[in-house]
Amino acid sequence: MSEWFETIADIEATPEEADQLGAEVLSWLVEQGIVAAEPTLCILGDHGHRPGPDYAAATVEPCDDLPGLATNGFRVVTGQSVFYSMGVDQVVCPRCEAVVVDDQDRDSWSDFSPVVDEWCMGGTGVRACGHCGEPVGINEWRWSPPWGFGYLGFEFWNWPMLDPGFVAAVSNRLGHRTVQPSGKL
Ligand SMILES: [Zn+2]
Repeated sequence: MSEWFETIADIEATPEEADQLGAEVLSWLVEQGIVAAEPTLCILGDHGHRPGPDYAAATVEPCDDLPGLATNGFRVVTGQSVFYSMGVDQVVCPRCEAVVVDDQDRDSWSDFSPVVDEWCMGGTGVRACGHCGEPVGINEWRWSPPWGFGYLGFEFWNWPMLDPGFVAAVSNRLGHRTVQPSGKL
């Protein structure tokens, strides 16, 4: 069976605040009954928090199978991370709307992707748009599907689609902009 993940990626949290913010959101989710307090092996051999009694409040529509799945955990990810979706269809410049990466054009990704490596190596991740020449931060490009680059993320494994109101509530608690990468393994 393929495994599906959905991530709420905080693209504004600093490395210094990520651990504490992550712990705050986890304890809020436990309080709300969305996830279980005790970590168990529930994410592909790794630890996570299984769905709590009220997990459905976080989803658009509950899935009766979720509580019984081997992989059904939630986990907080901290530290520098590329919160990816499966593949990149397009990356669009937020200033001039030019399509700088198109999945029909392999060269466009090879040309663009060094900025991801640069960010991973501790660089700023700012790059001039090849079309308008304006500098654009790595999280400012319009990524389709969404990708996020940051230090704090919340992964949900095999959960049904997260409710937009729930995602907004998490973003509000964080006080930060979030994006939602997702994909199948
Ligand atoms: Zn541009």
